[in-house]
Amino acid sequence: MKKKEFKSSSKRVLDLMINSIYTNKEIFLRELLSNASDALDKLSYKALTDNSININKADLEINIIRDSDNRILTIKDNGIGMDASELENNLGTIAESGSLRFKEENKEQKDTEIIGQFGVGFYSAFMVAKKIEVVSKKYGEDKGHIWTSEGADGYTISECNTDDYGTTIKLYLKDNTDDDNYDKYLDEYTIRSLVTKYSDYLRYPIKMEVQNSRLKEGSDKEYETYTEVVTLNTMVPLWKKDKKDITEDDYNNFYSDKFMDYEKPLRVIHSSVEGLESYKALMFIPSHAPYDFYLKDYKKGLELYTNGVLIMEKCEKLLPDYYSFVKGVVDSADLSLNISRETLQNDKHVLGIAKTLETKIHNELADMLKNDFDNYKKFFEAFGSQIKYGVYDMYGANKDKLKDLLIFYSSKNEKMITLDEYVNNIEKEQKNIYYACGETIDKINMLPQVEQVKNKNYDVLYFTDYLDEFVAQVLGSYNDLTFKNVSDGDLNLDTEEEKEELKKVNEDNKEALDYIKTALNDEVVEVRFTNKLTNHPVCLTTEGNLSVEMQKVINAMPTDEKVKAKMILEINEKHPIANKIKELYKNNKEELSGYAKILYSEARLIEGLPIENPTEISNLICELISK
Ligand code: ADP
Repeated sequence: MKKKEFKSSSKRVLDLMINSIYTNKEIFLRELLSNASDALDKLSYKALTDNSININKADLEINIIRDSDNRILTIKDNGIGMDASELENNLGTIAESGSLRFKEENKEQKDTEIIGQFGVGFYSAFMVAKKIEVVSKKYGEDKGHIWTSEGADGYTISECNTDDYGTTIKLYLKDNTDDDNYDKYLDEYTIRSLVTKYSDYLRYPIKMEVQNSRLKEGSDKEYETYTEVVTLNTMVPLWKKDKKDITEDDYNNFYSDKFMDYEKPLRVIHSSVEGLESYKALMFIPSHAPYDFYLKDYKKGLELYTNGVLIMEKCEKLLPDYYSFVKGVVDSADLSLNISRETLQNDKHVLGIAKTLETKIHNELADMLKNDFDNYKKFFEAFGSQIKYGVYDMYGANKDKLKDLLIFYSSKNEKMITLDEYVNNIEKEQKNIYYACGETIDKINMLPQVEQVKNKNYDVLYFTDYLDEFVAQVLGSYNDLTFKNVSDGDLNLDTEEEKEELKKVNEDNKEALDYIKTALNDEVVEVRFTNKLTNHPVCLTTEGNLSVEMQKVINAMPTDEKVKAKMILEINEKHPIANKIKELYKNNKEELSGYAKILYSEARLIEGLPIENPTEISNLICELISK
């Protein structure tokens, strides 16, 4: 029989498994049992809608069979089964292997860490088996098939006779070594404890034959051994158990098993609701974004069950977009099944559940923000942009629900604070929430425009995320305080006297300043002297709603629409450069043109904007310094 090669990507993951020095090899059992349970789910779901399927739900089960003499561990299910092409596609490749992609993106990570981070599924069995045989027959088909592999060099598939539909996986255990004892996976108590630890909540019985002893009939001291089949799991889904019977470890194991995340969740939300909408929900707030979270094909949603049958793996309508990071399951008895996926999602019952879940998630986040700020920061680093996006999306329709979940870096506190904290600590006369935009906190600290606001003892929020300013614009104000960019040309921080004085300076030099504006080909809407810069010679400010940061963000988008902020070049009237300008305007206008270009370029550089004609500027500077 011709041996087929694994796809190269699968081969690499397989190598990883076979040569694994991962200490947590036991997870293979969890993976195989979960696959078996999924296969049973698929069959029972199909039976709900397909009359030709004739099964008794009570017969659906998983069996673990131990053969100590031959060192074979078998896991058998009577689920949906696989036909030849499914065996080929499902076991010949690791479909869309998340773990492999992750490994390629994180080359410095050790292999062992990667195994721990993902449910690597079926292949994890190669951590304990030197050879694997899978016999499978799809429900309703005549023929079964056998898939065999001894590891990385390939696999074979051939037809075989088997009476039972479903899948039987035979693991020929690896030889024991000094470090690893594989015999233990044949041991009753090891298996019992692994099932309890990882798979207790699976909703189908996991059965195993065990040896027991009892008093011989008619005797009061002679014992005999007998075999009996026991069910190893309690089968109550975790979400249906009483909270007081669940430990933190139970939740964490369930989460990592089901959602393939190696890190503990930040929060668990377990609720049971009776009333108009009756349901049980178990939701998790992850501590980090999954590797595919920001990719286009990431799908939000919760698993939806009815009466213990999984009816939808990702019910999107149960979560609003801004909470798309939440993982979990919902189980409700009142759902109708004989409707399409779309209709079900828009079912009034489902939408009603979604509404109460949203409130629960919100309350949990608010509680974390208030009582567990360190973890909230972690949460916000991972998913803050979702919340911001939620504020911004749909013209701010949800902004009031979400605004108190926002946190920003505060210049005064030198840490992240909420908007509520900001407004509770303003100066008496303060009317605005000041913010400054830039790539990093350090860079914003050096912005000339920030200085004047800080000098007034006002707190400044630092916007380092490109979404931040859009969020501020959608919010407009918070508790009657208006958001104001420190780069706004019209900050209005001066006293009447100062204003008058500055007005006069600008009027007296109007011609010189207009001359500079013309020299800059009207790149800016105005050139003026300012009193707000302490040490810096120049800065750029803007007029109107479009700031320089927003211009950058919008113009970086892959659309044809380009925008231009209305920029003002402000020159420090107390800086020696001011006198130089006045003097050149009188005596050497030609040279003033060159100065103007250099000053404007400086201001652009400070803002992180490119210089349109670097060669010209470089020549001008050289000319000046060679004088
Ligand atoms: P995952 O379960 O994450 O999809 P696996 O490598 O564990 O990845 O399994 C690959 C696929 O093989 C499954 O998605 C499923 O379609 C199929 N499969 C695995 N085990 C079984 C089984 N016991 N019965 C039916 N199909 C199975």
